[in-house]
Amino acid sequence: MKITFFFSLLLFITSVFGQTRQVCFSFDDLPVVGYGITDTTYQKQLTDRLVGALVKNRIPAIGFVNEKKMYEAGQTSPYQEKLLKSWLDHGLELGNHTYSHPDYNMVTYREFTEDLLKGETLIRKLLHDKGKALKYFRHPFLHVGPTKAKADSLDAFLASHGYTTAPVTIDNEDYLFALAYHRANIKKDTAQMKRIGADFLVYMEAKMKYYEKQSIVLFGREIPQILLLHASLLNADYTDALAAIFRKNGYAFVSMDSALKDTAYRTEITVYGKWGISWIDKWALSQGKKGDFFKEEPVTPEYINKLSAQ
Ligand SMILES: [Zn+2]
Repeated sequence: MKITFFFSLLLFITSVFGQTRQVCFSFDDLPVVGYGITDTTYQKQLTDRLVGALVKNRIPAIGFVNEKKMYEAGQTSPYQEKLLKSWLDHGLELGNHTYSHPDYNMVTYREFTEDLLKGETLIRKLLHDKGKALKYFRHPFLHVGPTKAKADSLDAFLASHGYTTAPVTIDNEDYLFALAYHRANIKKDTAQMKRIGADFLVYMEAKMKYYEKQSIVLFGREIPQILLLHASLLNADYTDALAAIFRKNGYAFVSMDSALKDTAYRTEITVYGKWGISWIDKWALSQGKKGDFFKEEPVTPEYINKLSAQ
């Protein structure tokens, strides 16, 4: 009897407290997604809230920078530099997301790689000052190259410059919710902001569960997930609540280094297109998975599409 009791207790403890699931939080378009708001107080408050939520929840996140945002009249802004320093001072990582966010589907290899190198000037220095090296690159729009040839040449360029590609598995449309949220904020429509925030959390939990399921179908197990987010007002306000949802579902927060140690990330990709999609989708397409595999992907609510339309 005693043994049965202890066995049950052990099972209970493992299921409730066992954090077998892992997620890496990654944020694009740093220092901030400002939609043209250049007010430094606004930008600082946004960064403070976002970084604060990451620190509070002990999330070893990585932020991907577009250095173009850091220049004013040809000069780097010390103010913008402080925003990035705040990420590093709190133990968070930074990576390169190109200088001006070009679309690799639309520009040449040469144009793209020139922009990429222009985008590492400051972050390389800031990381160096912290005794760290620049390692990760995130493709704008997740566009890695529409053909094998174009993707391979960029891969070779990245490798020769010491970069590791930062993939995404939990892809989502947080940027649409964020734009709708920003517009509601401009109108000081707090009721609308709350509705968007609440629906954002429901949507993100659905995405999380969807990619858990896809991972099991593809690998027979749940791989460490990499979540794509943006440095927006919405995420400054909701990263704390989002972290609670992941924790409730048994997730531990891990770094990009840690997530990429999983062998799943060495799965071959053999299909190319103009898409910007989850690596899980790319691996699935490479293994010949068809429409049925993708059919239960959660969709963005129609009112968010409308509110974020131009
Ligand atoms: Zn981006």
